[in-house]
Amino acid sequence: MRKVLILLVSVSMLLTVFSSPVLAKKNHPSTEGNTNISSIVTYDEMIDELKSLEKRSKGELEVFTLDELGYENSQSEQNRDLYVAKIGNGPEKVWIQGRIHGNEPYGTESTLKLLKMYVQNQSPKYQKVLDELTLYVIPMYNPDGSEMNIRHTELSESGDRIDLNRDWTEEGFEAVESKAWYSYWADVQPDFGIDIHHQGLKTDPETEEAITMSLGVSLAPGGPTLPNIKDGLYEDVTRQAQVHVYDSLKDYGYTNIDRYTVGNSSNGFSEIDIHGGVVSAMMLGLNYDNLNEDHHSHPAIFFETSGNTRDGNLGQRARGHNIKQNVLGLQELLHGLATDEVYDADPERWAEIPMPDTIGYQTDHSGFIPIEN
Ligand SMILES: [Zn+2]
Repeated sequence: MRKVLILLVSVSMLLTVFSSPVLAKKNHPSTEGNTNISSIVTYDEMIDELKSLEKRSKGELEVFTLDELGYENSQSEQNRDLYVAKIGNGPEKVWIQGRIHGNEPYGTESTLKLLKMYVQNQSPKYQKVLDELTLYVIPMYNPDGSEMNIRHTELSESGDRIDLNRDWTEEGFEAVESKAWYSYWADVQPDFGIDIHHQGLKTDPETEEAITMSLGVSLAPGGPTLPNIKDGLYEDVTRQAQVHVYDSLKDYGYTNIDRYTVGNSSNGFSEIDIHGGVVSAMMLGLNYDNLNEDHHSHPAIFFETSGNTRDGNLGQRARGHNIKQNVLGLQELLHGLATDEVYDADPERWAEIPMPDTIGYQTDHSGFIPIEN
């Protein structure tokens, strides 16, 4: 196995279990002193783009808010509407969410670009996806954090900051966004989930190339949780999905993909096994407030591209590539789901995707769990 040394790890490592508090001021947008965010899509720009795409799609793309659907909890803590874009006519439902962490803007840009491609729909490959799948796309899960350029959302009453990707637990649902999205998810009952994040900058010391993308499962395959769900079904499907994306993208010149880990070379690398992450709770079939009495669940994976807003301005070229590889990864995964090619992949080949040696699992349920050697 190729060893990958992580040279720089952002303090805002996206799925790090122990993240440090963010010190941004309440007024927005904040740059936290190190980033030019002028080119990043704002909440209003996202709405404009969605409405423009909806118009151009001639009925193919539906754009709506949870408020319009009549949900009791339907807006963000700061009363922003929560937007969904729905496209496709297939029986298999795929939930795609971006920017649950507000300082990770590519989720919004990638999903908007993806929607644009399906609206333009000039290839049989796209048509196949729209025939077989229905996509529920959430370009900005966390509009308040996005506008403040912070990871969290901020509770309107207490001002406490909540990581929305730890809030889908029995004891959680502190933020109204979590209740709103959960209610909608429980009604949609998707068949597959994809979550778009950013991570800190990583470099492969052998090639001196940047790791541009990491593929992750928030309940680690082979870890303490996933093998016990549905007799290991999701353990296989999540690995197959990653193998499919890896095979599809590895020959593009500007992609350099590995498996997601947290930690660093001096203290050791770990995989994550978090139960309160949104896509984890989806796999666990969480039944909160009796809204999911049948314990519906489905497999889900996440993409982590390098470069969130704390890492400074990457420049347009790197930024363009990072967005493009997310779009490509999404397109290939969706096509693989539409054609069932994903399920032809050998899950054991997941081990071929490079990653550093790991020492254990960072969890939000049992502390650190070391791997016994
Ligand atoms: Zn994140």
